[in-house]
Amino acid sequence: MICLGIESTAHTFGISVVRDKDKKVLSNIITAFKTKSGGLVPAKVADHHIDVLEDTFVKALETAGIKAIEIDLIAFSQGPGIGNTLRIGAGFARSLSLLLNKPLIGVNHCIAHLEVGRFLTKAKDPVLLYASGANTQVIAYEAGKYRVFGETLDLGIGNFLDTFARNLGLGFPGGPKIEELAKKSKHYIKLPYVVKGMDISLGGLETNLKNRVHQGKDSKEDLCFSVQETVFAMLIEVAERAMAHTGKTELLLGGGVACNKRLQEMSRIMCEERGAKLFLLENQFFVDNAAMIAITGIEMHKAGVKTPINKSEIRPYERTDDVDVKWR
Ligand code: AMP
Ligand code: MG
Repeated sequence: MICLGIESTAHTFGISVVRDKDKKVLSNIITAFKTKSGGLVPAKVADHHIDVLEDTFVKALETAGIKAIEIDLIAFSQGPGIGNTLRIGAGFARSLSLLLNKPLIGVNHCIAHLEVGRFLTKAKDPVLLYASGANTQVIAYEAGKYRVFGETLDLGIGNFLDTFARNLGLGFPGGPKIEELAKKSKHYIKLPYVVKGMDISLGGLETNLKNRVHQGKDSKEDLCFSVQETVFAMLIEVAERAMAHTGKTELLLGGGVACNKRLQEMSRIMCEERGAKLFLLENQFFVDNAAMIAITGIEMHKAGVKTPINKSEIRPYERTDDVDVKWR
């Protein structure tokens, strides 16, 4: 089976072609909306997705070496995400499904970050530490659903890093720039560390950092180093607690922040200490991408899940545990 996946939950528009029989990602085209200054305006991001749609589609088919007629299934990210941008991907997916007369399948974006790891690595039943721009969750499978064991109570980790970077005068996305500056320091400044059970909170830390940047006493390098050490330790603590609680022995990382080498190193240390296995992916499968949507679509389709056009409405607020997981 060949599945075409479409991703459009936020700043990334992506199209991918995945072949099921040899588990091959034939193409995974990612185009990301960027700004020189300022954040994401939903309507402008949607315009970006329309601008790049045709090129992305053509490139995805060309790279995969297939024609549209060879597609067996069309999967799209149905939610959660920004309404304006979700609508672009969903509309395109519906049209393709009707024109090619192939089934359509709506995929939950957060779940797709976990399924891509199960498809591409040897992980069977991992706890996912999903650390992206807007989303920060610890997710694992339990009794027919993907459950959220812990999450941020306020800001997503990536958005938090991007805001901090903006306060420092660095551009968007800020995460990679913070990582570079952090390498130049070993001086730890004690910062607020907020873990509540299996949840984390970043709002207080954000205010603390804004004040520090305003006062100008600490070096950028020391602040970046200390921020990474603090917030990644919070993530690792809640991920480890979820592993202890569920008895699961595999950890998978996901989301754009998972590209960070220090977060990967801390994850590795935690897993080694508790005799667990860590699974990492190529960066193209950590960030928002359409391959994970196609992969999840294939799994769902094989389990008999269907999304008729009249059930293909976008679901901007869909929760990870709203979805009945029939494919496991
Ligand atoms: P996503 O929403 O999953 O596409 O992830 C986007 C987020 O990942 C942005 O907030 C980026 O700042 C962040 N990010 C990307 N690369 C890194 C990195 N190397 N370290 C920390 N954060 C990163
Ligand atoms: Mg994501």
